[in-house]
Amino acid sequence: MNSAVIDAAGLGELVSVLIDRGYRVVGPTKSDNAIVLAELDSADDLPSGWGVDVGPGHYRLRRRDDDAVFGHSAGPQSWKQFLHPPRQKLWSSDDAESEEQPRYAFLGVRGCDLAAIAILNGVLGNAAHPDEGFTGRLRQIFVVAVNCTEPGGLCFCASMGTGPAVGPGYDLALTERVGSDGRRYVVDVGTDDGAEVLASITHRQAEQPEIDSAQADVTGAAAKMGRQMPEGDLRNLLVESRESPHWEEVASRCLTCGNCTMVCPTCFCTNVEDVTDLTGEHAERWMEWASCFEFDFTFVHEGSVRQSGPSRYRHWLTHKLGTWHDQFGTSGCVGCGRCIAWCPTGIDITEEMTTLSELAEADDD
Ligand code: SF4
Ligand code: SF4
Repeated sequence: MNSAVIDAAGLGELVSVLIDRGYRVVGPTKSDNAIVLAELDSADDLPSGWGVDVGPGHYRLRRRDDDAVFGHSAGPQSWKQFLHPPRQKLWSSDDAESEEQPRYAFLGVRGCDLAAIAILNGVLGNAAHPDEGFTGRLRQIFVVAVNCTEPGGLCFCASMGTGPAVGPGYDLALTERVGSDGRRYVVDVGTDDGAEVLASITHRQAEQPEIDSAQADVTGAAAKMGRQMPEGDLRNLLVESRESPHWEEVASRCLTCGNCTMVCPTCFCTNVEDVTDLTGEHAERWMEWASCFEFDFTFVHEGSVRQSGPSRYRHWLTHKLGTWHDQFGTSGCVGCGRCIAWCPTGIDITEEMTTLSELAEADDD
């Protein structure tokens, strides 16, 4: 169908309809001085009038001069935590039945994060041995995506090809419009389920000028990104930079804390741990997020393979932007900028790649 328009009340109806259909609706909320993803009881829980200022190692909420609810860039969390939770019980000697997977409706998924979900599916869902918990949750999600019109200071999805317009994979896609006559949303339908949900809420057909204006703002957002990944073959750049002295320089700033891997919407590594209680009668198997920055991440026997900070940072970056292509056919980075904001020392993946690129060019001269 053609694009539709809903107003702020229609957004409230959308949340209610999804809850009535049995979804746990998750979207952005304001909590703990950040925009965090949480279950919504209604659209009133959305962070109306809040934006964010971000920089390397910096994230602050700020008041907007309008009541936009999607007027903020990526927060500390991504949708990964719902599809691939930080800690999951895989097995218990006490439970005969496996747990029922929640049905999530994600409200407010940006282009970068929609691409990240597809990348995670490439790793966890399309693997030789798919992660059944992940695929079970993914199969049931309803996605309300949001096109980006105001990128943040650390966004670079345009240079990674994942935004600012949302790509495929949504049920409904919204573009938020805020004017003197209130908030409204240009709505595009991606699936039959999306069409059915839209049909059950108050909407009208979009007029061509408002579709054009929304598209122009989304297209224009590409030029307002605060960061840009250097052009060229990043995979080869990283292969050729293996012995670069720059790894030592980055490592002099890197605390190997692993924050970048925790906030990244595509980092997927886990550890599996078996635990028993003191009686020895109950045993459980848990899967937890792991980070390639942990010292024992590469523990084989008698020690870890990647012992130094430079080798761990080099591994993370080389996998993310290089060997990920070999393994999964895509980049592992979608340009959300989270790893820059939440790095305690403000290490910037785009700056490090730019430096490596400049060093390689200087070597060629
Ligand atoms: S590497 Fe950084 S910018 Fe890229 S997807 Fe992960 S957190 Fe986002
Ligand atoms: S790059 Fe930053 S966030 Fe990542 S491990 Fe190093 S200090 Fe931590």
